[in-house]
Amino acid sequence: MPEPLLELQNVTKVFGGGLLSTSKPIVALDDYSLIIDDIPARITPIAGESGSGKTTLANLVLGYLSPTSGRILYRGVDLNAMNSQQRLAYRREVQAVFQDPYEVYNPFYRVQHVFDMVVRNFRLGLNQQERRDRIEEALNLVGLRGEEILEKYPHQLSGGQRQRVMVARAYMLRPRLIVADEPVSAVDASLRAMILDIMLNLRDEHHISFLYITHDLSTAYQIGDDMHVLFQGTTVEKGDTAGIIDNPKHPYVQQLIGSIPVPDPEIKWDTNIHLPSEEEMRAKYARGCRFYPRCPSAMDVCRQERPPLFHVDEDHETACFLYDTVVAE
Ligand code: SF4
Repeated sequence: MPEPLLELQNVTKVFGGGLLSTSKPIVALDDYSLIIDDIPARITPIAGESGSGKTTLANLVLGYLSPTSGRILYRGVDLNAMNSQQRLAYRREVQAVFQDPYEVYNPFYRVQHVFDMVVRNFRLGLNQQERRDRIEEALNLVGLRGEEILEKYPHQLSGGQRQRVMVARAYMLRPRLIVADEPVSAVDASLRAMILDIMLNLRDEHHISFLYITHDLSTAYQIGDDMHVLFQGTTVEKGDTAGIIDNPKHPYVQQLIGSIPVPDPEIKWDTNIHLPSEEEMRAKYARGCRFYPRCPSAMDVCRQERPPLFHVDEDHETACFLYDTVVAE
């Protein structure tokens, strides 16, 4: 079996609650596992509302945070055990694109500087002509041209141009995985469609996988392969994106998707589900299903034990005792 590109093994991330801390521990991500295969390239939506743990997951994969427990492996090597050469390769092959790229820019430097820094920091070893060609190729890929963009300052670009420059910057490094954290939530509909198209093109023509962090199920539906739906730091449903959205199994996911009968790029995934407080549902030692206090189908067992993922189909799993054949009997 080939080594997965990225693997998260039972990763938990807890904030606060240390020996000297007065705050209660908050479990942002709880025993979370994920595999992204090396081939073929895939777009994996990580979908969830705010507080679901999806941004913590992005920060863990990008190395901005370390797991409290569990392991993150890239090509079989633990991120925490990488030597400097492996770490540089990881930083080159795993790139990030954020919702609002403005903060990534230094306002005092022209756009050219963004690309110069990439060449320098990642020791790409290109001569001047190769560097120019590589930048132009990357810009063309996202529908931009060097002559119209490189001499400008960040504030002279539109939001969509800034976002596309960030994608071009990532592409220059020939990454294998891009962590895209809400990359289209701050742009208008036509730019959204363009950026989603660019992602599909990068997957299909350039074999780049995406961890697509989003609160927006409609865009996940448009481009996603296998999706994970997170709720309070755990995976409640995973599998083929269209399969989940067309036929959700978990009561929480059913409620969410019930608010959007037809996936529509103009409709955001936004619900009025009233959930208990974070503290009530995310206390470190809470037992049972996290959705128990609001679940219309709750059973006794749901309060006692945390539901594991049950297969409901070949490519569809959900963390709900309704699908446990033993409980259901
Ligand atoms: Fe509801 Fe129980 Fe399923 Fe949780 S495990 S979603 S409480 S039925």
